[in-house]
This record gives sequence, structure tokens and C-alpha cells, in this order.
Amino acid sequence: MDRIATKRPTPEYVRRFRGRVEGLRGSELQKKIDAEINTILDKNNVKKAPVFVPEIAESLLFDLFFTQFNDGTIGDMADTVENMGGIDSNRYIRVEKRCDNLRSFGTIAHELGHFFIHCNDADAFYERKPLFLLDVSPDDKEKEEQADLFKDSLQMPLRFLKPFIKERCALRRTWRSVLQDIKDEFLVPRHTARARIESLLHKAVCDDMLCEELP
Ligand SMILES: [Zn+2]
Repeated sequence: MDRIATKRPTPEYVRRFRGRVEGLRGSELQKKIDAEINTILDKNNVKKAPVFVPEIAESLLFDLFFTQFNDGTIGDMADTVENMGGIDSNRYIRVEKRCDNLRSFGTIAHELGHFFIHCNDADAFYERKPLFLLDVSPDDKEKEEQADLFKDSLQMPLRFLKPFIKERCALRRTWRSVLQDIKDEFLVPRHTARARIESLLHKAVCDDMLCEELP
């Protein structure tokens, strides 16, 4: 009898997540992801920042590799039935080994975004993340942005971020110091912290302004 090849098993909560975000876009997608991230935190027993994304990837049976790409790629991800050419795994994330830790964690979180939003049980999935998005189709660009939404939401979950900011508002801190605190506490680059805050507040924030609570 032939063995039927399958992908590695995917937890039920991941399938539910995929079902809930399917077809959503833009701010609707962001809201839904922010709400559903709590399940991922609970399932992985994450009680406080920082969220260690490599551990979450491993819990989802990803093999993690650090490798040297020489074509401007900073990471790639596959979730397939058969091993990809030359790589001894059918579910893996590879990260450019010359990137620093903060960027590496971000890349892993981004790839998990594709896993939670764009993968399914049946179809082989492969994606590579270039350092710069050049010459990509509008459809691919949207997928990249969606994976980045997920990344920021996973690394800076509202559950932890809101009280963190609230505390600093009470101390009348400026965004300059708060963004630095977010970088240190959540292990994200400062520009990523700023982008997350601005997207949640729907406006730009200046370093010298007092911080304000998230809605
Ligand atoms: Zn991507």
C-alpha cells in the first residue's frame, strides 16, 4: 500500500485562526489579528513580554535554520508535503545569519504571519522575504503587509502593550523614552515600535510629545 504523504500536523487553534481572518483586509484584519493573538499567547503559555517567537515557531513544528543567503533574502519559509530541494525539512523557517537578533525575531514572526494567514492544510506553501520589496505584484505586496501586521501584533500584543503604555502615561513620559522602553521590553527595533504605535493611534507621534494611552 502506498504511504500517503501529508504535511506536518497543524493545531486546531491555528486552523480556527485562519478561518477567522480569511478574506479580511486592512484595519478589519488588524483588529481581528489583535483579538486572535491572545489565543496564540495562551496556547503557548506566554504571560508577559517579550514574546519569544522562536519558541512559538518550534511549538508549531517548524525547523529553524540560520543560513547565509547571498541574494538579498533575509528569510524564507516552507510548509510542504515533501522536503524542498536540498533542505532536510518540510516545515522550516530560515533566517539570514548575519542579521541581528531583533531583526531575526521579526523575520520569524513575519513568516509565522504567513503560516497563520496564508497557509492551509492542503497546499504547499513557500515564500521568501527579501530585504526590499521590489518588483512584487500588488497581491504579493498585500500578503507581505498582512504578514507584517501579524508580526507586530504578535511581538507587541495589545494585552501587554496597553498597560505598558498606560503606566508610562501616568509618569508623563515622552514618546522618545517610551519607544526606547518598548524596544527593550518587547525586543523589537525602535522603528517597528513607532510604526505599531502610529498604526494603533491612527496618527504620527513625535519624540518630544507626551505619550498617550492606546484606544
Ligand atoms: Zn513574507
